[in-house]
Amino acid sequence: MRRISIFGATGSVGANGVDLIRRAGGPAAYQTVALTGGRNIARLAQMARELQAEVAVTAHPELLDDLRDALAGSGVEAAAGPQALVEAAQRPADWVLSAIVGAAGLVPGLTALAQGGILALANKESLVCAGPLLRRAAKASGARILPVDSEHSAIFQALGQENLESVQDVTITASGGAFRDWPLERLAAATVAEASTHPNWAMGQRITIDSASMFNKAMEVIEAREFFSLRPDRIRVLVHPESIIHAMVSHVDGGTIAHLGAPDMRHAIGYALNWPRRAPLPVAPLDLAALGSLTFRAPDENRWPALRLAREVMAAGGMAGAVFNAAKEQALDDFIGGRIGFTAMAPRVEMTLQALSGRAGFGDDPADLDTVLHWDRAARKEAAA
Ligand code: NAD
Ligand code: MG
Repeated sequence: MRRISIFGATGSVGANGVDLIRRAGGPAAYQTVALTGGRNIARLAQMARELQAEVAVTAHPELLDDLRDALAGSGVEAAAGPQALVEAAQRPADWVLSAIVGAAGLVPGLTALAQGGILALANKESLVCAGPLLRRAAKASGARILPVDSEHSAIFQALGQENLESVQDVTITASGGAFRDWPLERLAAATVAEASTHPNWAMGQRITIDSASMFNKAMEVIEAREFFSLRPDRIRVLVHPESIIHAMVSHVDGGTIAHLGAPDMRHAIGYALNWPRRAPLPVAPLDLAALGSLTFRAPDENRWPALRLAREVMAAGGMAGAVFNAAKEQALDDFIGGRIGFTAMAPRVEMTLQALSGRAGFGDDPADLDTVLHWDRAARKEAAA
């Protein structure tokens, strides 16, 4: 029986992963090693009982007793705190879903990679801030990283066995998020509640706001570079309000292979779970006749400066990804906390990149985890409102 773990099981992606395991037969089909979550102890405990996990971990040490109580009599071990997350990631598993949000997913993901199984990566932040470290860890242990972000799963599937040398460019689509059609002058006054809605996908709050600002797409452009070793000028973004085409791979011979599907993360998670085979998934079949038409437009970089910043980050290399991600996370915290407005996020990230770009070591690829964490902390401090 395959052994699986889900980091961030209580979140939007994680719960979709749990749903797939449940539908496959739960403990009769997979041996669940670790499930982790945050403050929603009831949800974590319920999932751990249902899948008969070996261990359930909350990120918050002060919630250990609550988790123990919620798991009483279940046979599931309870653990809490960052070190417990690392220990959970050290438990051997064949397939690990990395679905914690933010740079907090980096250490558990790296630790899981060192065990040599498959890391199904939803946590794009870890690739953006430490791509070379993840690749090195995978190479050293023989682990394999599979994409779970829908666009990257789509690229992976559209590429198939093709030789990268025949690829002209890769296009990832963007719905345009909550403010796609807002007049530009209204954006500065956009509220957190307004930014927390998405036209097509049901996701966690942070990535939903990042979709409205296009920081999510900016992160995904960098993620595509890290995943597929694409040249930055070969990665394009196309606004596609219906979110049916997730990515397209265009070849030098003029042919383009697109990946289409309903906007349901269970496709990409399930593809990574069943890879290299395909198996039935609870995803609605595509009905293009019912949709009638698919529409496209070029992204407007006045509306979404994050896309320009992504290109600058790729050109800078070195620690720019870690600084970009951390500054973005801090600016997002400050927006959610009411300290800055929606349109102040991108300038803060840009100012942080500028301020830190002169420091020694900025242009060097990360040597180790401590270096990444050092630049992450420096960027948050610089970006804070
Ligand atoms: P979410 O907010 O719904 O869930 C996040 C999970 O991480 C929860 O289980 C939470 O308890 C845990 N968590 C949060 N902070 C933590 C910390 N400091 N330490 C340990 N655990 C912590 O987020 P989500 O929307 O499911 O996104 C998860 C990841 O997947 C993100 O990297 C996101 O960019 C990526 N992603 C999400 C979607 C989506 O459809 N939601 C699609 C593609 C990629
Ligand atoms: Mg995505």
